[in-house]
Amino acid sequence: MADSDTKRASGEDAHRREYGRIVAKFGTSLLTAGKDQLDLKMMSALVGQVAGLRKRGIEVIVVTSGSIAAGRHRLGVNAAGRESPSRQVLASVGQSHLMHTYDGLFAEHDLVAAQALLTRRALADREGYLNARNTLLALLDLNAVPVVNENDVVAVEEIEGILIGDNDNLSALVTNLVDADLLVMLTDTGGLHTADPRRDPSAELIRTVERITPEIESLADDAATPQGVGGMVTKLEAAKLATAGGADVVIASGREPRVLERLVNGETIGTAFPATTNRMESRKRWMLSGLSTRGKIVIDEGAAKAVLSHGKSLLPAGVREVVGPFDRGDSVSICSDDGRELAIGVTNYGHEDAAAICGLRSDKIEETLGHEYGAELVHRNNLVLV
Ligand code: GLU
Repeated sequence: MADSDTKRASGEDAHRREYGRIVAKFGTSLLTAGKDQLDLKMMSALVGQVAGLRKRGIEVIVVTSGSIAAGRHRLGVNAAGRESPSRQVLASVGQSHLMHTYDGLFAEHDLVAAQALLTRRALADREGYLNARNTLLALLDLNAVPVVNENDVVAVEEIEGILIGDNDNLSALVTNLVDADLLVMLTDTGGLHTADPRRDPSAELIRTVERITPEIESLADDAATPQGVGGMVTKLEAAKLATAGGADVVIASGREPRVLERLVNGETIGTAFPATTNRMESRKRWMLSGLSTRGKIVIDEGAAKAVLSHGKSLLPAGVREVVGPFDRGDSVSICSDDGRELAIGVTNYGHEDAAAICGLRSDKIEETLGHEYGAELVHRNNLVLV
């Protein structure tokens, strides 16, 4: 904490953090270059940047909009039409086209794109959260590029015409889900300004926002475009969420050449929101918060050493005893033989499965249970030492 506080204090240095995993969010107006269909040139440039980062060993998760705009174009309906199909219908048509486009563009860089359609509801559910997290991390391990969008076909929540679902907030949820260290929201404006730059020529770009105060929020007069739903209000909500999860956030113009690469290199572009907490702290809070711990897993000395001193996952082989009840996705207390709590972790197996594989080698899991959710009882990424 002290370390990052010092870095923050020197302002410019906020960007000097080394980024190993980033979430890049592309908004509709960027992907369509302000027109009524996907702009291949723009998409190709963005994909090229992602590929460039991957080649440097930086993991990138793309959060994309554009399915609704693509669907509208494919069906030949315009936004203002009286009989405009629903958002769900448009997204259903456009999403496959959107993915097809990404697939082709990533293939030009010998990269595989992987579609992940998420909803807030799915992520609010412990098991859904864990499944999504494990899948995205496994994709990154395989060098695939996850391309995430909201599953608009089932995300229908609307209150008085205002959409709750938006990809800005989704990108922040994904950032926290995969423990990314940087979220870049690329848009067609250059960042947060003192006024709306499209209406007020005296508007000035704000370079760094250390805290999102009510005063800052009041600057974000919702500048939603007719095509996208994410104006500055949702971007600030997203920035708040992701910085509180331990990630740095940048809102910048996607039209800036090589913007992703330059940001990762430490250049100051757009508006930066330095993380307000340390990643581990936030993860710990998440695991320790509200979602109370259920059950207990007692581990042997070897496993305790592996978990405590070597940052290893907890495998079934090191487990002595399982005290339920708990379900897959619950936070479970991990204790030593003498009853000391060593860690808290999100378990991949419910208590019955865990008891059945207790003491076994991981290659026996499938044979014993008839299914398997991975070699680890608790993956190190889902484990916090106490
Ligand atoms: N999920 C929507 C789409 O793909 C976009 C929502 C947003 O732009 O925030 O079209």
